Amino acid sequence: MNKINPIQDTYFAAVGDVHGEMYLMLAILDKIQSKLNKSISFVLQVGDFEPHRNYADVMTMDAPSKYKKLGEFHHFYTKNYQFPYPIYFIGGNHEPYGFLDRLPPKVTEIASNCYYLGRVGCLELAGLKIVGVSGIYKAKLFDNRPPISQINSRSNSDYIGFTYKEINQAIDYQKTDILLLHEWANNIVAEKDQEILSQYLPRRKYEEIGNEYASYLIEILQPRLVLCGHMHFPYRNSLSFPDGNSCHICCLANVTKGREAMAIFHLSSQGKITEIPIH
Ligand SMILES: [Zn+2]
Repeated sequence: MNKINPIQDTYFAAVGDVHGEMYLMLAILDKIQSKLNKSISFVLQVGDFEPHRNYADVMTMDAPSKYKKLGEFHHFYTKNYQFPYPIYFIGGNHEPYGFLDRLPPKVTEIASNCYYLGRVGCLELAGLKIVGVSGIYKAKLFDNRPPISQINSRSNSDYIGFTYKEINQAIDYQKTDILLLHEWANNIVAEKDQEILSQYLPRRKYEEIGNEYASYLIEILQPRLVLCGHMHFPYRNSLSFPDGNSCHICCLANVTKGREAMAIFHLSSQGKITEIPIH
Protein backbone atom coordinates (compact mmCIF):
# COMPACT_ATOMS: atom_id res chain seq x y z
CA MET A 1 0.00 0.00 0.00
CA ASN A 2 2.82 2.41 0.81
CA LYS A 3 4.88 1.59 -2.23
CA ILE A 4 5.07 3.68 -5.35
CA ASN A 5 7.30 2.11 -7.94
CA PRO A 6 9.69 4.28 -9.92
CA ILE A 7 8.37 4.13 -13.46
CA GLN A 8 10.63 6.70 -15.02
CA ASP A 9 11.40 10.09 -13.62
CA THR A 10 9.47 10.97 -10.49
CA TYR A 11 8.74 14.34 -8.91
CA PHE A 12 7.82 14.69 -5.27
CA ALA A 13 7.20 17.61 -2.95
CA ALA A 14 8.17 18.50 0.59
CA VAL A 15 5.91 20.80 2.59
CA GLY A 16 6.60 22.80 5.76
CA ASP A 17 4.22 23.46 8.67
CA VAL A 18 0.60 23.42 7.46
CA HIS A 19 -1.26 24.29 10.70
CA GLY A 20 -4.55 22.98 9.35
CA GLU A 21 -4.51 25.06 6.15
CA MET A 22 -4.99 22.13 3.78
CA TYR A 23 -6.52 24.13 0.91
CA LEU A 24 -3.70 26.67 0.95
CA MET A 25 -1.16 23.84 0.83
CA LEU A 26 -2.94 22.24 -2.12
CA ALA A 27 -3.33 25.57 -3.95
CA ILE A 28 0.39 26.35 -3.71
CA LEU A 29 1.31 22.84 -4.85
CA ASP A 30 -1.15 23.09 -7.70
CA LYS A 31 0.41 26.34 -8.94
CA ILE A 32 3.88 24.83 -8.77
CA GLN A 33 2.73 21.75 -10.70
CA SER A 34 1.25 23.97 -13.44
CA LYS A 35 4.34 26.16 -13.63
CA LEU A 36 6.70 23.18 -13.87
CA ASN A 37 4.26 21.19 -15.98
CA LYS A 38 5.03 18.15 -13.83
CA SER A 39 2.83 15.97 -11.67
CA ILE A 40 3.74 15.38 -8.06
CA SER A 41 3.79 11.67 -7.16
CA PHE A 42 3.70 12.16 -3.39
CA VAL A 43 4.18 14.77 -0.66
CA LEU A 44 6.36 14.53 2.44
CA GLN A 45 5.25 16.86 5.23
CA VAL A 46 7.45 17.75 8.19
CA GLY A 47 4.93 18.17 11.03
CA ASP A 48 2.56 20.75 12.52
CA PHE A 49 0.12 19.38 9.98
CA GLU A 50 -2.79 19.67 12.47
CA PRO A 51 -5.09 16.87 11.30
CA HIS A 52 -7.98 17.63 13.65
CA ARG A 53 -11.10 15.51 13.09
CA ASN A 54 -13.12 17.61 15.55
CA TYR A 55 -12.82 20.06 18.45
CA ALA A 56 -12.04 17.24 20.88
CA ASP A 57 -8.84 16.63 18.88
CA VAL A 58 -7.98 20.35 18.94
CA MET A 59 -8.20 20.29 22.73
CA THR A 60 -5.34 17.74 22.88
CA MET A 61 -2.94 20.00 20.95
CA ASP A 62 -0.30 22.02 22.79
CA ALA A 63 -0.77 25.65 21.66
CA PRO A 64 -1.90 29.02 23.02
CA SER A 65 -5.72 29.20 22.88
CA LYS A 66 -5.74 31.74 20.02
CA TYR A 67 -4.10 29.09 17.81
CA LYS A 68 -6.50 26.29 18.77
CA LYS A 69 -8.51 26.17 15.57
CA LEU A 70 -10.23 23.25 13.90
CA GLY A 71 -8.64 23.94 10.53
CA GLU A 72 -9.61 22.15 7.33
CA PHE A 73 -8.49 18.57 7.77
CA HIS A 74 -11.97 17.46 8.90
CA HIS A 75 -13.28 18.13 5.37
CA PHE A 76 -10.87 15.45 4.17
CA TYR A 77 -11.58 13.16 7.10
CA THR A 78 -15.30 13.19 6.34
CA LYS A 79 -14.51 12.56 2.65
CA ASN A 80 -16.01 15.84 1.36
CA TYR A 81 -12.64 16.49 -0.25
CA GLN A 82 -9.77 14.23 -1.16
CA PHE A 83 -6.03 14.84 -1.33
CA PRO A 84 -5.05 14.57 -5.00
CA TYR A 85 -1.78 12.75 -4.21
CA PRO A 86 -0.58 10.76 -1.21
CA ILE A 87 0.59 12.90 1.70
CA TYR A 88 2.91 11.42 4.32
CA PHE A 89 3.43 13.42 7.51
CA ILE A 90 5.18 13.26 10.85
CA GLY A 91 4.00 14.99 14.02
CA GLY A 92 5.32 18.37 15.15
CA ASN A 93 4.88 20.14 18.48
CA HIS A 94 1.39 21.39 17.58
CA GLU A 95 -0.59 18.24 16.87
CA PRO A 96 -3.68 16.50 18.25
CA TYR A 97 -1.68 13.80 19.98
CA GLY A 98 -4.86 12.67 21.75
CA PHE A 99 -5.83 11.40 18.29
CA LEU A 100 -2.44 10.49 16.77
CA ASP A 101 -1.04 8.61 19.78
CA ARG A 102 -4.05 6.28 19.83
CA LEU A 103 -3.31 5.05 16.31
CA PRO A 104 -1.42 1.79 15.87
CA PRO A 105 2.37 2.30 15.93
CA LYS A 106 2.86 2.03 12.17
CA VAL A 107 2.28 4.10 9.04
CA THR A 108 -1.49 4.68 9.11
CA GLU A 109 -3.89 6.12 6.55
CA ILE A 110 -5.96 8.61 8.61
CA ALA A 111 -7.95 9.98 5.64
CA SER A 112 -7.97 8.94 2.02
CA ASN A 113 -4.46 9.56 0.62
CA CYS A 114 -3.19 10.92 3.94
CA TYR A 115 -0.72 8.88 6.02
CA TYR A 116 0.74 9.47 9.48
CA LEU A 117 4.17 7.92 9.99
CA GLY A 118 3.68 7.51 13.73
CA ARG A 119 6.11 8.62 16.45
CA VAL A 120 8.78 6.84 14.43
CA GLY A 121 8.08 5.42 11.02
CA CYS A 122 9.77 4.03 7.96
CA LEU A 123 8.36 3.56 4.49
CA GLU A 124 9.51 2.96 0.97
CA LEU A 125 8.35 5.24 -1.84
CA ALA A 126 9.64 5.15 -5.40
CA GLY A 127 12.52 3.00 -4.20
CA LEU A 128 13.49 5.52 -1.51
CA LYS A 129 13.78 4.55 2.13
CA ILE A 130 12.17 7.28 4.21
CA VAL A 131 12.40 7.54 7.99
CA GLY A 132 10.45 10.06 10.07
CA VAL A 133 10.58 11.01 13.75
CA SER A 134 7.71 13.01 15.24
CA GLY A 135 7.97 15.72 17.88
CA ILE A 136 10.74 17.99 19.12
CA TYR A 137 13.43 17.66 21.78
CA LYS A 138 12.15 18.36 25.29
CA ALA A 139 14.57 17.44 28.07
CA LYS A 140 11.80 16.48 30.52
CA LEU A 141 10.18 14.07 28.04
CA PHE A 142 13.33 12.51 26.62
CA ASP A 143 13.55 9.70 29.21
CA ASN A 144 9.87 9.03 29.26
CA ARG A 145 6.60 10.47 28.00
CA PRO A 146 3.42 9.79 29.98
CA PRO A 147 0.96 7.31 28.43
CA ILE A 148 -1.68 8.93 26.25
CA SER A 149 -4.39 7.53 28.56
CA GLN A 150 -3.34 10.25 31.07
CA ILE A 151 -3.65 13.19 28.69
CA ASN A 152 -6.82 14.56 30.33
CA SER A 153 -5.00 15.02 33.63
CA ARG A 154 -1.77 16.31 32.04
CA SER A 155 -0.60 19.31 30.12
CA ASN A 156 -0.71 18.79 26.34
CA SER A 157 2.93 19.90 26.33
CA ASP A 158 3.78 16.55 27.98
CA TYR A 159 3.25 14.90 24.58
CA ILE A 160 5.22 17.06 22.15
CA GLY A 161 8.69 15.58 22.67
CA PHE A 162 10.36 12.48 21.29
CA THR A 163 12.00 9.97 23.64
CA TYR A 164 15.43 8.31 23.55
CA LYS A 165 13.66 5.04 22.74
CA GLU A 166 12.20 6.63 19.62
CA ILE A 167 15.61 7.98 18.59
CA ASN A 168 16.99 4.45 19.02
CA GLN A 169 14.12 3.01 16.99
CA ALA A 170 14.99 5.41 14.17
CA ILE A 171 18.67 4.43 14.43
CA ASP A 172 17.66 0.77 14.02
CA TYR A 173 16.39 1.59 10.53
CA GLN A 174 20.02 2.26 9.55
CA LYS A 175 21.04 3.75 6.20
CA THR A 176 18.23 5.96 4.94
CA ASP A 177 17.59 8.00 1.81
CA ILE A 178 15.35 10.68 3.31
CA LEU A 179 14.99 11.74 6.95
CA LEU A 180 11.91 13.69 8.05
CA LEU A 181 12.27 15.78 11.20
CA HIS A 182 10.14 18.54 12.65
CA GLU A 183 12.81 20.44 14.57
CA TRP A 184 16.10 21.31 12.88
CA ALA A 185 19.33 19.57 13.82
CA ASN A 186 21.71 21.82 15.80
CA ASN A 187 24.62 21.59 13.36
CA ILE A 188 22.99 22.36 10.03
CA VAL A 189 23.45 26.12 9.82
CA ALA A 190 26.65 26.95 7.93
CA GLU A 191 28.93 29.45 9.63
CA LYS A 192 28.52 31.88 6.75
CA ASP A 193 24.73 31.88 7.23
CA GLN A 194 24.64 32.34 10.98
CA GLU A 195 24.60 36.12 10.85
CA ILE A 196 21.74 36.26 8.35
CA LEU A 197 19.66 33.86 10.42
CA SER A 198 20.38 35.73 13.65
CA GLN A 199 19.18 38.93 11.99
CA TYR A 200 16.07 37.41 10.50
CA LEU A 201 14.86 35.31 13.42
CA PRO A 202 13.84 36.69 16.82
CA ARG A 203 16.72 36.26 19.26
CA ARG A 204 14.96 33.61 21.36
CA LYS A 205 14.11 31.57 18.25
CA TYR A 206 17.64 31.84 16.90
CA GLU A 207 19.15 30.65 20.18
CA GLU A 208 16.83 27.66 20.21
CA ILE A 209 17.73 26.41 16.73
CA GLY A 210 18.03 22.68 16.51
CA ASN A 211 18.68 19.74 18.79
CA GLU A 212 21.64 17.42 19.10
CA TYR A 213 19.63 14.21 18.66
CA ALA A 214 18.54 15.27 15.19
CA SER A 215 22.23 15.84 14.35
CA TYR A 216 23.03 12.42 15.72
CA LEU A 217 20.35 10.83 13.53
CA ILE A 218 21.79 12.53 10.46
CA GLU A 219 25.25 11.27 11.38
CA ILE A 220 24.08 7.67 11.88
CA LEU A 221 21.43 7.30 9.15
CA GLN A 222 23.48 9.24 6.57
CA PRO A 223 20.43 10.35 4.57
CA ARG A 224 20.84 11.96 1.17
CA LEU A 225 18.08 14.42 2.01
CA VAL A 226 16.90 15.85 5.35
CA LEU A 227 13.59 17.73 5.57
CA CYS A 228 12.70 19.94 8.56
CA GLY A 229 10.05 22.50 9.51
CA HIS A 230 9.26 24.13 12.87
CA MET A 231 11.16 27.43 12.52
CA HIS A 232 8.76 28.82 9.86
CA PHE A 233 11.86 29.84 7.96
CA PRO A 234 13.34 28.45 4.74
CA TYR A 235 16.97 27.38 4.72
CA ARG A 236 19.18 25.15 2.58
CA ASN A 237 22.60 23.70 3.23
CA SER A 238 24.68 20.68 2.40
CA LEU A 239 26.57 18.49 4.88
CA SER A 240 29.42 16.14 4.02
CA PHE A 241 29.91 12.73 5.57
CA PRO A 242 33.35 11.21 6.26
CA ASP A 243 32.89 8.73 3.38
CA GLY A 244 32.62 11.64 0.92
CA ASN A 245 28.87 11.44 0.40
CA SER A 246 26.82 14.52 1.08
CA CYS A 247 23.39 15.34 2.38
CA HIS A 248 21.04 18.07 1.17
CA ILE A 249 19.44 19.92 4.08
CA CYS A 250 16.06 21.44 3.26
CA CYS A 251 14.28 23.46 5.96
CA LEU A 252 10.86 24.74 4.99
CA ALA A 253 8.73 27.72 6.03
CA ASN A 254 5.04 27.45 6.96
CA VAL A 255 2.40 27.42 4.22
CA THR A 256 1.22 31.00 4.81
CA LYS A 257 4.61 31.97 3.35
CA GLY A 258 3.68 30.40 0.02
CA ARG A 259 6.44 28.79 -2.01
CA GLU A 260 8.96 29.20 0.82
CA ALA A 261 7.05 26.34 2.46
CA MET A 262 7.61 24.05 -0.50
CA ALA A 263 10.37 22.14 -2.19
CA ILE A 264 10.15 20.00 -5.30
CA PHE A 265 12.52 17.15 -5.96
CA HIS A 266 13.30 15.23 -9.09
CA LEU A 267 14.10 11.57 -8.64
CA SER A 268 15.88 10.22 -11.67
CA SER A 269 15.44 6.68 -12.91
CA GLN A 270 18.95 6.08 -11.50
CA GLY A 271 17.73 7.13 -8.06
CA LYS A 272 19.42 10.54 -7.89
CA ILE A 273 17.49 13.18 -5.89
CA THR A 274 17.77 16.81 -7.03
CA GLU A 275 15.89 19.85 -5.74
CA ILE A 276 14.19 21.77 -8.58
CA PRO A 277 14.10 25.59 -8.34
CA ILE A 278 10.53 26.89 -7.96
CA HIS A 279 11.01 30.54 -7.02
ZN1 LIG B 1 4.72 25.50 13.06
